[in-house]
Amino acid sequence: MSRISLELVNLYKYYGRILALEDINLKVEKGELLTILGPSGSGKSTLLKIIGGFEEPTRGEVYINGELMNGVPPYRRPTSMVFQDLALFPHLNVFNNIAYGLKIRKKPLNEIRSKVREVAELLHIEELLDRKVTQLSGGQQQRVALARSLIIEPEILLLDEPLGPLDVKLRKEMQLELRRIQRKLNSTWVYVTHDHEEAIVMSDRVAILNSGNIIDVGTIREIYERPKNRFVAEFLGETNIIECIVDSVEDNVFTAFCGDLKIEGEASRKLEKGEKIQVMIRPEKIKIIHHPPPANKNTASGKIVEIIYKGAYSDLKIEVDDSKIFTVKTFEPIYQVGEKVFIKWDSRDVTVISG
Ligand code: ADP
Repeated sequence: MSRISLELVNLYKYYGRILALEDINLKVEKGELLTILGPSGSGKSTLLKIIGGFEEPTRGEVYINGELMNGVPPYRRPTSMVFQDLALFPHLNVFNNIAYGLKIRKKPLNEIRSKVREVAELLHIEELLDRKVTQLSGGQQQRVALARSLIIEPEILLLDEPLGPLDVKLRKEMQLELRRIQRKLNSTWVYVTHDHEEAIVMSDRVAILNSGNIIDVGTIREIYERPKNRFVAEFLGETNIIECIVDSVEDNVFTAFCGDLKIEGEASRKLEKGEKIQVMIRPEKIKIIHHPPPANKNTASGKIVEIIYKGAYSDLKIEVDDSKIFTVKTFEPIYQVGEKVFIKWDSRDVTVISG
């Protein structure tokens, strides 16, 4: 049996003249949690709706378990969708909200009862089954919506920013809870979010969507550490991007001049002497030192021009080379604005990105 649960082939979606999705190709394995991450308007919801059958693609194919889904209505697909606004039935109690999918499939009552109990236990809402959904907190409603989708045991669960309305603390708890449930069920989930921190916590793999195009796909670690381009690098969190000119390349190690700085790194692609490149160094990979380092590459001297307090850590803005500002993350609350420091980083943490 194929390990591929979902396959999208050359998918396009036009709304009138608006091109919402352009040539999307994507495979999701069974048991995988794939996050679709992108800014507002990038096409995330459209993509999810096409997988669930709520929208038809203008061109291209959707396969689930190897079967062509084009033209198949949502209720005949092996998918279930958790909508952003949850769409619970306000006139029904929690039990009947959860049971809905089995009732319309005309399952016997004893099977419905035992399945509702099972899924309610999984989500820790077994005490709430008699309540009206209007009497629940946001987090509890969220659990009911999830239970209602999970009860029909979909091949693929589709989630459209399901934690959006929750406050930060609850959202973080629910992220871990969702991940626990997904691992336990070993089911395939496609999860839409615009929040990169959520994607980092939740995903096995992530697909980055921008203006209707998938511009990068991989494990969250691959994408965070080796982003394809500047947009992806910046979308996944604060970073330092420096313009350089390649000076030498030898055995996959390059050196480059970046203003007054000399940077050495691993060449992840073929580079030519004289080529203009951009390199990325994440703020947490840069160390602050108080004495001039012996080497003259992968280091700089500078002055702290701003300290942004973030609770457990601070972001320091360090001006080097007259105008370049580096962001450096530190857990040590010992620095002062105006202080002169040295910074250094490892060549392994230098990533070449394209523009
Ligand atoms: P996201 O979920 O990433 O915010 P959407 O998939 O909702 O993005 O939208 C992608 C693009 O398609 C946007 O430009 C949006 O305005 C447009 N769009 C979405 N739905 C419709 C629709 N029903 N009619 C016309 N344009 C739409």
